[in-house]
Amino acid sequence: MRLSLTAGLVFLSCGLLTCGIAALPAFASDIPKAPPQSPMQKVKLVEPRLRLAKTDTGARPRVALTFDACMGAVDERILSTLIRERIPSTVFVTARWLRKNQATVAIFLANPDLFEIENHGENHVPAIDVAVPVYGIASAGSPEAVSREVGKGAEAVIAAGLPAPRWFRGATAKYDASSIDEIRKMGYRVAGYSLNGDDGSLLGAGSAERRIAAAKDGDVVISHINQPTHAAGQGVANAIVKLKARGVEFVKLADVETVGDNDTTTPRPGLF
Ligand SMILES: [Zn+2]
Repeated sequence: MRLSLTAGLVFLSCGLLTCGIAALPAFASDIPKAPPQSPMQKVKLVEPRLRLAKTDTGARPRVALTFDACMGAVDERILSTLIRERIPSTVFVTARWLRKNQATVAIFLANPDLFEIENHGENHVPAIDVAVPVYGIASAGSPEAVSREVGKGAEAVIAAGLPAPRWFRGATAKYDASSIDEIRKMGYRVAGYSLNGDDGSLLGAGSAERRIAAAKDGDVVISHINQPTHAAGQGVANAIVKLKARGVEFVKLADVETVGDNDTTTPRPGLF
């Protein structure tokens, strides 16, 4: 994750992966800034990993494709490939992305077998409960703000007519231990990943294609479905076709057992 200011563009990225946000300065004003006077707090941030639980050997390799829709539009190259090839996936959406992409929401609703829609937050604010800039971007900064980011994101998914989300993945994919605990207590599992497919949609098409096409049994792949103008999306779409040709079985997170580190998926009594 890096924040670079170049020729009037702001690229806000998501951890190892960048979020794939390219925005004009006016748009950048939407991104909460770290208060200039806020003391730098020491906090250990983690970027959890998530894999599929092992199954019997001899079965087809299984891969979970997960996509983040942080803000902006939809990448039709990826969306049309998923529909044409009838490939299931899990899409993490923000409330702000949902508001601007209602035609795509209608496609999700019409294809519930293909699309599991999960929670990427309300405003794409890192779900960290202390004030710590992540790559220059202000975190939620308090337990109350984390609760709002998670809760309002879920409310938006439900308001769109989609099933209540069971998974949460925050902006930047980074958390501290207490924010993970808070999100778990709200009833969600926290979605890490095992294979970064597109570096926040900033990879070239060939690199994204090679990374994702090399997915192995049990991988949870993360890439972005909200950057139609970036080259990476074509590579993502190409790789999906290649994986299918290789005989990979695609699964949604809702349909499989998963193993996440940092207490992101361990069962909790009474909670998902
Ligand atoms: Zn994101």
